[in-house]
Amino acid sequence: MLHRAPATVLEVIQLGDAQQRVFSAVNRLSEREIPCEHAAGVVLARDVVATENVPPFANTAVDGFAVRASDVAQVPAQLRVIGTLAAGDATMWRVGAGEALRIMTGAPMPDGADAVVMVEDCEQSDPNRVTIKKSVAVGTSVRPIADDVRMGDTVFTAGTVLSAAGAGVLSSINARNVWVYPRAKVALLSTGDELVTDGSPLQRGQIRESNLTMLEVLIANSHCDVTNVGVVADDEALLERTLHEVARTHDAIITSGGVSMGDFDVVKAVLSRIADMQWMQMAIKPAKPFAFGLLNATVDETVNATEVVRTDRQRRIPIFGLPGNPVSSMISFELLARPALRKMMGHTTDLLRPTISAIADAPLRRKPDGKTHFMRVFGHFGVDGRLHVRDTGPQGSHQLAATAAANGLAIVQDGSGIDAGGAVDVMLLG
Ligand code: AMP
Ligand code: MG
Repeated sequence: MLHRAPATVLEVIQLGDAQQRVFSAVNRLSEREIPCEHAAGVVLARDVVATENVPPFANTAVDGFAVRASDVAQVPAQLRVIGTLAAGDATMWRVGAGEALRIMTGAPMPDGADAVVMVEDCEQSDPNRVTIKKSVAVGTSVRPIADDVRMGDTVFTAGTVLSAAGAGVLSSINARNVWVYPRAKVALLSTGDELVTDGSPLQRGQIRESNLTMLEVLIANSHCDVTNVGVVADDEALLERTLHEVARTHDAIITSGGVSMGDFDVVKAVLSRIADMQWMQMAIKPAKPFAFGLLNATVDETVNATEVVRTDRQRRIPIFGLPGNPVSSMISFELLARPALRKMMGHTTDLLRPTISAIADAPLRRKPDGKTHFMRVFGHFGVDGRLHVRDTGPQGSHQLAATAAANGLAIVQDGSGIDAGGAVDVMLLG
């Protein structure tokens, strides 16, 4: 049973207007405390103050001999070796005048010693004696307590996007949990009765599904948690039930297919009925059609990692309706869905991927049509320090193979394109 979506006259809008509509309609997710092992890639909601020093004690930066610098002012100097100390060894040692302690990187500095001579500058002829061949100043090769992080310091301020090293720093100061804007939980589904996912032989009119595979990775790489719901059959009741169900446990829904002008599709019928939708036509190519809406959903509360409770709480869940053509699907994800998800996850700047001015090494040809074209290009940095790009092949919105070879999108303004050697803005895809 197919219904035509309510007839609407769709004006063509600029990409910037569409982005403005979408970004202004989504809100930041509520801050939450998560284990620091899961925090890389997310935005901190609160400052993090160190409650421990790093390193927690002065230790040696090299394998060598802990000495008194004054004992090795004249070299070569013969010292008595009093023992060996490995990292993690808690034995207390005291280095007296004329003595040295063999010491491994990371081991605590023994009392009495004030410098370490690296093993390469020493000659140990027998277990009890070492000849030091190089003088060292006080403090040489010693890592003082807290010279990485000092207790009481603010190591990260709210708004910081945690890198992998950042998550490591949290571990180093024993910040077990941190307050963040959480990863958006995104439900991904596709529609289209022509789509085959199970590897069976294609019947007439059928094609292989490809958008879910691609979008699942793009969403995950955007630091969201993604649920791949799969292809939902063209059945209004089923689609409606599925959307309501996933809205209970997700922060956003991404659909693929069924949003273009001519579409006579269950997606349009169902979304128009159950959500506040905006059906957009943007002055770009590919990815002209795009739908965005808010679905009133009753949300389930996640209590902990395993427990979810049903509630009556209402929330408006954003729905991003991407077009089905694979290249369009990817580009509208990049231009509209990904930045909106980033806003939800607490990003305030850099919602969009970076764009830099590049040089077209070969012409980027197009026809004037009133639209901005996003052409798939491969770029490399030349000896001149500039990004140089070439198109990666056929630019049709169904031709994903040429997109697979691209690492950027050349933003080619309306007109007949860019001549070889001309400048063009390129959005970097990774
Ligand atoms: P639609 O946006 O549903 O009108 O689809 C536009 C074109 O994209 C049609 O040729 C569809 O067969 C194709 N298409 C739609 N969804 C997918 C998908 N998930 N994977 C591959 N192709 C698709
Ligand atoms: Mg379709």
